[in-house]
Amino acid sequence: MADIIQLLPDHVANQIAAGEVVQRPASAVKELLENAMDAQASRIKLIVKDSGKTLIQVIDDGMGMSTTDARFCFERHATSKIKTADDLFRLHTKGFRGEALASIAAVAQVELATKQAENEIGTKIHIEGSKILRQEPAVTPKGTSVAVRRLFFNIPARRQFLKSDSVEFRHIIDEFHRIALTHPNTAFQLFHNDNELFNLPVSNLRQRIVSVFGGRTNEKLVPLSEVTDLVGIGGFVGKPEFARRSKAEQFFFVNQRYIRNPYLHHAVISAYDGLIKDGTQPSYFIYLDINPASIDINIHPTKTEIKFENEQALYAILRASVKHSLGQFSAAAVLDFDQDQTLEVQYEQLKTMPSLPKIEVDADFNPFDDKGYDKPHVFSKTSQPAWESLYIGLGSKSNNPLTEELEIDLESEEVTGSIFNQQEEKSNPTEYFQVHEKYILCMVKSGMILIDQHRAHRRILYEDFLVKLSEEKTASQQLLFPITPDFSHGEVGLLSELREHLEHAGFCFSKFDQNGVEIIGIPVLLTPEKTTSILQNLIEDLEQEIPDSYFSAIDLLAKKLSKSIAIKHGQSLNQKEQQQIIDSLFACKEPKLTPDNKTVFVRLGWDEIEKKFN
Ligand code: ADP
Ligand code: MG
Repeated sequence: MADIIQLLPDHVANQIAAGEVVQRPASAVKELLENAMDAQASRIKLIVKDSGKTLIQVIDDGMGMSTTDARFCFERHATSKIKTADDLFRLHTKGFRGEALASIAAVAQVELATKQAENEIGTKIHIEGSKILRQEPAVTPKGTSVAVRRLFFNIPARRQFLKSDSVEFRHIIDEFHRIALTHPNTAFQLFHNDNELFNLPVSNLRQRIVSVFGGRTNEKLVPLSEVTDLVGIGGFVGKPEFARRSKAEQFFFVNQRYIRNPYLHHAVISAYDGLIKDGTQPSYFIYLDINPASIDINIHPTKTEIKFENEQALYAILRASVKHSLGQFSAAAVLDFDQDQTLEVQYEQLKTMPSLPKIEVDADFNPFDDKGYDKPHVFSKTSQPAWESLYIGLGSKSNNPLTEELEIDLESEEVTGSIFNQQEEKSNPTEYFQVHEKYILCMVKSGMILIDQHRAHRRILYEDFLVKLSEEKTASQQLLFPITPDFSHGEVGLLSELREHLEHAGFCFSKFDQNGVEIIGIPVLLTPEKTTSILQNLIEDLEQEIPDSYFSAIDLLAKKLSKSIAIKHGQSLNQKEQQQIIDSLFACKEPKLTPDNKTVFVRLGWDEIEKKFN
């Protein structure tokens, strides 16, 4: 048999290897930023278009490359950072494998411009799918610019598997944060589609954290500091009262590298025992300095896991150190009269039971009056405020699908099974009872129906919001005192993706930029006290799972709003309110289930009841 083994052509080998280093636009961002840091840049500009799918460009003012190096840097295993295997144990640079540029150039169209300080003229190189297309002398400032265009242009399958723009951009922001948070002595700028999202001046660590996360971050931070033989610990932990449901602001850095480590995370969380509510998470920005010889650095460059030699000792030291800082802070807080009162109020608000929305009822309104209130249908495209849906369907027999449905049911049943006759059922004003301020018990001919009042109202509001959110603006209540929730840059960014829908729902913003939002109007049934927490909640969900489509974004928002606004268990409802709920519920497309698929009502037939008495 003939020989069948052959060497892969270079460009194929490069593409395969590239898959390891460059998984998505954010991986290229990470590598380019790290190269700029390794080149000792003091200013770095990151320019991104279409979440990195069209362009990723990093411009630095670092040491630059000679003409020969500029060409050589795209070769696999070309690195200036280590010469011998021993160097691995003295590593002080981010890169060392010499693979990043080779990999990126294998799967994108790359333009490199670079110049060293001592030279008059620099070099420009175009390389595409590992092939150098052009190299020329160029007038360019000191430092290096690498522009990566159309990532995966030559691997359609890879390009196709990229996530939505918002997901990919989120990954880019994460990488940007990680680098920016480890290098406060370097100035960073980030542009996305020509908007400047971050402009981080040279600063100290605390200021850097604040300029990355914005808002009132500064007030949340408690400094951390501990030096032992094994490890130096610095950075900040969040005050317990700022703990949140999201994990977004939790960072470990080891020797200036971002890492993830569930074990050390546990050490930090356990230091908060008894200080934070269950299910909430503190923020932390912890910087560990460890002898490189005692950690396993032979890890994959794109992975963030790391192995420590003395993990248990590290756990104990870290936990004690966090506890110590938190203890010092709370002792100091008692003496600190200058604390910002507004912050305390906000936390108090979060703890208080949300107040129940008021349902206004027109006392003169007679639901059994057949004069024909020409109320619009619940799904009509009119822009009525959400609360009106409670009243929809009232007053006209034919608009009441519940009774209609039951009448049909009845026709196929034996009449002897019924207690009320049809006339009684229509006119009996006590045909609805509220039970335990939780259910509405509704007598009908064929038996009875037990409706969960909160779930029913959620379904009603949800279907109503679904329509309104994709439409023009609906009514909103103007606030006497604007609300300014404490959101970070990233959180505002997430929220901005839903801005239009939020406005359709009735939110009015007087300010909406990277420094925060100011709310001057909210949906009619929402209360100001609940506004911040519902938006916070929405953001946390967006952090977990960014909606991929227009519809899922609307759906998420409709679910959140309806859940928060719907009348709660424990609220007593008068007869009319009960009937309004029943009528609107059975005008819904899917009355049986809540938006998250929970049972809204159960039906108990007289025949079933009678069987039980046998
Ligand atoms: P590594 O960073 O692992 O060495 P890379 O492929 O990222 O591998 O880069 C290859 C080499 O190119 C680096 O070792 C460095 O000498 C040079 N280089 C890359 N980016 C820059 C930059 N922004 N400024 C100066 N030199 C750079
Ligand atoms: Mg590198």
